[in-house]
Amino acid sequence: MAEPKFLPFALPDIGEEEIAEVVDALRSGWVTTGPKTKQFEADFAAFIGDGVEAIAVNSATAGLHLALEAVGIGPGDEVIVPTYTFTATAEVVRYLGAHPVCVDVDPVTFNISPAAIRAAITPKTRAIMPVHFAGLACEMDEIVAIAREHNLKVIEDAAHALPTTYQGKLVGTLDSDVTVFSFYANKTMTTGEGGMVVSKNRDIIARCKVMRLHGISRDAFDRYVSKTPAWYYEVVAPGFKYNMPDIAAAIGIHQLKKIGAFREKREAMAARYDAELAGLPLILPARPTLASDAHAWHLYPVRLKPEAGVGRDDFIAQMAERGIGCSVHFIPLHRHPVWRDGYGLRNVDFPVADAAFEAEVTLPLYTKMSDADQTRVIAAVRGILSA
Ligand SMILES: *Cc1c(COP(=O)(O)O)cnc(C)c1O
Repeated sequence: MAEPKFLPFALPDIGEEEIAEVVDALRSGWVTTGPKTKQFEADFAAFIGDGVEAIAVNSATAGLHLALEAVGIGPGDEVIVPTYTFTATAEVVRYLGAHPVCVDVDPVTFNISPAAIRAAITPKTRAIMPVHFAGLACEMDEIVAIAREHNLKVIEDAAHALPTTYQGKLVGTLDSDVTVFSFYANKTMTTGEGGMVVSKNRDIIARCKVMRLHGISRDAFDRYVSKTPAWYYEVVAPGFKYNMPDIAAAIGIHQLKKIGAFREKREAMAARYDAELAGLPLILPARPTLASDAHAWHLYPVRLKPEAGVGRDDFIAQMAERGIGCSVHFIPLHRHPVWRDGYGLRNVDFPVADAAFEAEVTLPLYTKMSDADQTRVIAAVRGILSA
């Protein structure tokens, strides 16, 4: 019998519509930021709703950097981040000469712990960056309340959270200052590389727009279509090169149209995992407190219980032997040399995140997976855990 094909941990779901739109961009002669990016931004703002504006960038990392710059984070400031995240959340703080302050997470959701935020506030604290882990919203009411009490900005790292709701409201419309989404290849929708900065605050949006393109007061397309001389522009700040090209926006326009259907498929797959992995020595992922809230299901993270009788690394190796790719989310920031050594962080200071990391496995969950693929994953997990 032929060996079944290797099932990767994640794959993008690109259709003929995306391909045709990219071809259209290539043939149009306008390949960088232009009409397709403008359309993608308008469509995205309309999707999020509630009067937000949306600024397309070439990664969520770029977007987080712009967001922190726009709210005024600067040298010596402290920004509170969860240790249970990707390094991008913290590195952008350092880009501005400020310091990320890592804190522990909630033992059920792995989202940043409000109590840990309170304990980390100092006179230098300027902002909090909640990360909606796996696509499950953070306790935003409490986080926003803490921020108001201490006059802090809130920048949501929503790289996993498209679309996610919190108490019935879409992430992107909550009471933070800025929200940043990712369109990296393995996220809930993709533009290859890309991100979106979303805010209701016109000053923040205006600053992000200028800093996204060298600090230039008008972008190339504005100059191309405007009546004032096309060659004239003014540089008002030392900006960055973070604009999204139309080739990427062309993909995003069609991915966004499918995001509702994508989420429904992810939800159904998560429900199937929940049902068919119940009873095994696993802790299954947390669900929203309100049953009516939407989880984006970017990831399906499980934790091995001690009685599983198999360690995390061994489990992943056995899954690979069965032709199935798994991953780990996350190697916490306090375990990476740059943050550990730079800030003297110790595993014992982050007991929840550290224990979670030791036991965590992320199973494949993406819209290109078939029912048969998921059957294979479930059978492999059962096989390993009953051995
Ligand atoms: C993927 C990711 C990012 C970075 O997104 P890019 O678009 O690749 O820059 C930031 N934060 C978290 C939590 C992520 O998972």
